[in-house]
Parts: sequence; structure tokens; C-alpha cells
Amino acid sequence: MTNRASLWINENTSPPERGVHFRCPGCNETHGIKYEPTGWGFNGDLEKPTFTPSVLVRSGHYAGGASAETGKCHCNFEERTGQKTDYKCSICHSFVTDGRIQFLSDCTHALAGQTVDLPPWDETK
Ligand SMILES: [Zn+2]
Ligand SMILES: [Zn+2]
Repeated sequence: MTNRASLWINENTSPPERGVHFRCPGCNETHGIKYEPTGWGFNGDLEKPTFTPSVLVRSGHYAGGASAETGKCHCNFEERTGQKTDYKCSICHSFVTDGRIQFLSDCTHALAGQTVDLPPWDETK
């Protein structure tokens, strides 16, 4: 039987804090949330998780801070310096319900506005 769990429970945080991580098919990255003792609501189901409320991940200038104020950001590093970078600033805003991830329209990635299955947790990543 294959392991279909789409979450990884992080047991390494100091108790009583507990968090889960999942692979985001929109960002091709790992997102993590905390659910104990404060944080998101989590139904405890590793295969068909539900989190409440929505998960919002902002990076780079979307997250505010110095790069938003100065306009010197990772995403225009190449323009500014002529050196290569793969970094892109992004917004990922989703509802995870019953093992499916619904991306809201404010996401900057290609799955904005779509609902897809959460992929199985990939041990190699
Ligand atoms: Zn994402
Ligand atoms: Zn940026």
C-alpha cells in the first residue's frame, strides 16, 4: 500500500507547537502552517486535510519590508545587475479542504483560480 499522505507533521518544533507542511502544486514549493497550540484549524487527517482559514503565502516585495520600499528586489535583480537569478516574488492564497487545494484568483502562479488535489508528500524534497 502506498503512502498517500499529503502532509508532513513537523515534530521537531518545541512542544507544544506543532506544524504541518505540504507540497504546493502552484508554487512547486513546500508551505507550512502551525496548528497547535494556536494557528490554523486542522482536521488531523493526513490524507484529506482541511485547514481553516485560508493559507496566504507572500514572498519578496509582496511581503512588504525593505524590498517593497526601495524597489530593489530579488525579482528585478537581473534587470538591475545583469546577473542571473531564478527568484520570483509571489503570492499564493489557498483554501485546503478535504485534500483538495483551491487557489484564489490573487495567486501569481499558473494555478490561480483552480482547484486541484494536494500531491502526495514527496519524501525526497
Ligand atoms: Zn503555493
Ligand atoms: Zn519582487
